[in-house]
Amino acid sequence: GLSERLQKTFSKLRGKGKVTEADVREMMREVRLALLEADVNFDVTKTFIKTVRERAVGSEVLESLTPAQQVIKIVNEELTKVMGTTAVALNNAPKIPTIIMMVGLQGAGKTTSAGKLVHYLQTEQKARPLLIAADVYRPAAIEQLQTIGQQLQVPVYDEGTQVDPVTIVEHGLTQAREQKNDYVLIDTAGRLEIDTQLMDELRRIKDLAQPNEILLVVDSMTGQAATHVAEGFNEQLDITGVILTKLDGDTRGGAALSIRAVTGKPIKFIGSGEKLAALEVFHPDRMANRILGMGDMMTLIEKAEKDYDAQQAETLTRKMQENSFDFNDFVDQLQQVQKMGPMDEIMKMIPGMANNPALKNAQMDPQDLEHLKAIVYSMTLQERQEPDLLNPSRRRRIAAGAGRPIVEVNRMIKQFKQMQTMMQKMSKGNLNGMEQMMGN
Ligand code: GDP
Ligand code: MG
Repeated sequence: GLSERLQKTFSKLRGKGKVTEADVREMMREVRLALLEADVNFDVTKTFIKTVRERAVGSEVLESLTPAQQVIKIVNEELTKVMGTTAVALNNAPKIPTIIMMVGLQGAGKTTSAGKLVHYLQTEQKARPLLIAADVYRPAAIEQLQTIGQQLQVPVYDEGTQVDPVTIVEHGLTQAREQKNDYVLIDTAGRLEIDTQLMDELRRIKDLAQPNEILLVVDSMTGQAATHVAEGFNEQLDITGVILTKLDGDTRGGAALSIRAVTGKPIKFIGSGEKLAALEVFHPDRMANRILGMGDMMTLIEKAEKDYDAQQAETLTRKMQENSFDFNDFVDQLQQVQKMGPMDEIMKMIPGMANNPALKNAQMDPQDLEHLKAIVYSMTLQERQEPDLLNPSRRRRIAAGAGRPIVEVNRMIKQFKQMQTMMQKMSKGNLNGMEQMMGN
């Protein structure tokens, strides 16, 4: 995938004290191919590469001590920029109700996303929305929306399949005004492709409802096609934003990059599952990291550059390679990490760790460092070096010695083991772990 390719490319620069213009050109060729493979639109890729190359051959990189990191950083920053830099909030009407019209091709996720958006609004601002069923072509579509309405306990306005959708919307809006609903979400019909009949109907609904938002729902799995769909809908309806669905699949998010660049319209939300809670506000920086497949690598690099003692990084790298990371190193590490931030936050930034289920339980508060130290110091030297010795009775003895509950001892040992595993992974990984991160 894209991330593996990029990491491989970047690793070529590892250890180079100076990068030449030829190095940068070569890298950019790889980045270009990688983006195209991830379904990023051709023109978008071209412009993107041009921008990154200009920045990269500037003194910014060539004279830097950490050229590979600098290039990754530039690629990341530019990706973020292409996707709009910051999250964009919903347009709210000055006077309720705020009217949101969902549009998109059949199967893109309009109905599901309407439900998700209701759930989001309920959770975020205790909203009292009304859903309008304006997809009259399939009886199942109305039932689907009714089911979602029941789940969320919000009213769904429908008039079956025999009434013109524009009329349904008109009546639905009247009801919403009477009932003082603060949001109205209009679920419209889709087709397999953009056609004039569909667009006429959507335009008529738009003219009547005067929505504050026309959210185009796009299936991220459709790759390049997603961009064309977005262009088409935007030309015809002048959409106000995009919901990119099905990002829980193995898509890398290339569509996100192209859609924003081609339509100029912000992606406002992403769908990441079939459940009604699976909707997130779109953050360009996070998507850039996702596309690069690097967790929050940039932040980690920056933190590391600031806080990390190079000497210690070197020692740690060696330990990782020798596989001799023990509890003494663990305490050293924690002391370093305490300067950088909470443990689980740091670990999440490391490539391949972001989705590690083990991390869900890793709650290391740097304030607990003193307790952890007490636990480690209650171990014998041998125990510190050979954690496998730590059977239940030894753990009990250590807990008593440190004056900490046994669960804490167990948790620490678990975290230590996670860290050990991570170290092993990193020392085998493409980027050659810490060494790469620390710019050695
Ligand atoms: P519509 O025709 O545009 O209204 O699309 P639907 O809302 O009926 O969704 C079509 C299918 O996609 C359904 O099976 C949904 O459960 C599924 N779906 C929608 N959004 C997502 C998502 O973000 N992730 C996943 N995995 N499935 C989704
Ligand atoms: Mg639908």
